[in-house]
Amino acid sequence: MTRYDYYTPRTLAEAFGLAADKAGARFVAGGTDLMVRIRHKDVHPEALVSLRSIPEITGIEIGGSARIGAATTIADIARHEGLGAAFPVLVQAARRVGGPQIRNAGTIGGNLCNASPCADTALPLLALDAVAHLESVRGARAVPLRDFFQGPRATCLAPGELLSRVEIPKPAAGAKAVFLKKGRVKMDLSIASVAVLLELDGESCAKARIAAGSVAPIPLRLTGAEALLEGKRLTEDVIAAAAETAMREISPITDVRSTAEYRRSIIGVFTRRAIAALLGRGVA
Ligand SMILES: Cc1cc2nc3c(=O)[nH]c(=O)nc-3n(C[C@H](O)[C@H](O)[C@H](O)COP(=O)(O)OP(=O)(O)OC[C@H]3O[C@@H](n4cnc5c(N)ncnc54)[C@H](O)[C@@H]3O)c2cc1C
Repeated sequence: MTRYDYYTPRTLAEAFGLAADKAGARFVAGGTDLMVRIRHKDVHPEALVSLRSIPEITGIEIGGSARIGAATTIADIARHEGLGAAFPVLVQAARRVGGPQIRNAGTIGGNLCNASPCADTALPLLALDAVAHLESVRGARAVPLRDFFQGPRATCLAPGELLSRVEIPKPAAGAKAVFLKKGRVKMDLSIASVAVLLELDGESCAKARIAAGSVAPIPLRLTGAEALLEGKRLTEDVIAAAAETAMREISPITDVRSTAEYRRSIIGVFTRRAIAALLGRGVA
């Protein structure tokens, strides 16, 4: 059995102190990713510093922007009425994370810091241009979420640094977004997924954001497909060209969940279907 010390700090200052003092220490939130990795002997922390009892990084505030503490559970996001009204695409994705037990324990910070390409909340947050706020004893910094992910299980977090909150700017009035996920069964990690946001200016697309999951080493913005949509009338030809580009921008692999070819075709279908749904020309 793996043995480690377990600490439950009540403040960020205490958490930073513990992370600095204890050799081989690691932050843990809900533990739904980390405990599996410990059990599989992928990681061998000597101490765990829990982030679950720190009010400074827990909770949801909605003002000009939404600020979600990293230790907020996925369940709290999934049932938050204010988020549901202002950022329904994030709530949609949160509701698709695992089952109730996973959503009750798992946090948004853990979902992002685990840096899996299939992290469901990463996609709406990328589509919404969210910003990650990072803190350590050395100070605080803000990083656009699209620069946060560096590779499978790799982020731009420095040693001893943690994600304290995610901030989502309010999208322009009339912007709409949707999240689509394909799993082998309903309650499963995604085989492939997308979040698409469109901001329309009359008949023309003023802004497009497309993020794709489980089809690249990181949750990925598909900037080529976005550029094809922006500034254009969204005719069937334009949408088809964007879907084709989306399929070329990804680098899916074949693994136990699916083949690379199937993943690529889902991204094409989901991109087209999401855009059509946002334009009121079909259902997602
Ligand atoms: C059965 C099962 C089903 C699942 N289904 C899904 C699914 O459908 N979709 C999905 O996206 N995920 C799924 N997951 C993965 C997991 O539940 C989520 O990623 C969850 O949000 C992780 O959050 P956590 O708080 O449990 O993270 P933890 O396990 O506590 O931490 C994960 C990693 O992030 C680090 N960390 C955590 N918080 C911070 C922070 N604030 N700052 C810095 N580092 C931090 C930890 O050190 C660790 O390396 C599933 C997992 C299981 C076991």
